[in-house]
Amino acid sequence: MVFTMLLGEVSGSSLNAFLQECGFIEVGDGAGWRADLEEEGYAIKVFVKYEEGKVKFLLPEPSVPAEINERVVRRIASELYEHVHGVEMPPEKLKVEAATYSFCYYCLKPVRELLFKCRRCGGRYCSQHRLPERHKCPGISYVKAAFEGGEKREPEAKREMVVKRHGGG
Ligand SMILES: [Zn+2]
Ligand SMILES: [Zn+2]
Repeated sequence: MVFTMLLGEVSGSSLNAFLQECGFIEVGDGAGWRADLEEEGYAIKVFVKYEEGKVKFLLPEPSVPAEINERVVRRIASELYEHVHGVEMPPEKLKVEAATYSFCYYCLKPVRELLFKCRRCGGRYCSQHRLPERHKCPGISYVKAAFEGGEKREPEAKREMVVKRHGGG
């Protein structure tokens, strides 16, 4: 799912500081942030992107119910809005932009073709960032340890079919 919040102008460093405090880490050389959260037993990946006064929350897991996604996002968005403006976020500032969305977990760009699933970290990446070295693979230290232990692994990313969606909807 994709949520958009109208936040207004905010400095990148202040946004960065706030999100890091909430447990987010930077991805894609400044493309955005990501966090792995938990809500009611669901593991929820949240990616955040900021551009031109808008904050986008990208949640890739189709198995998480929409209302759980919304609750998590609304909580982060409200805190962020209050942090920046000092007042409570008017509910209409946050809205669902799309029910489904395919994007690269590293550069956060929308991907219309196939996404590659990384065997090491389980993330999905565009063709440019599919190799572990290219997306600063969170699973890479494990693999290094395996190599040092003499166990060989195939450095490949598995292609995964993603249902193509045509505009509209
Ligand atoms: Zn990418
Ligand atoms: Zn990876």
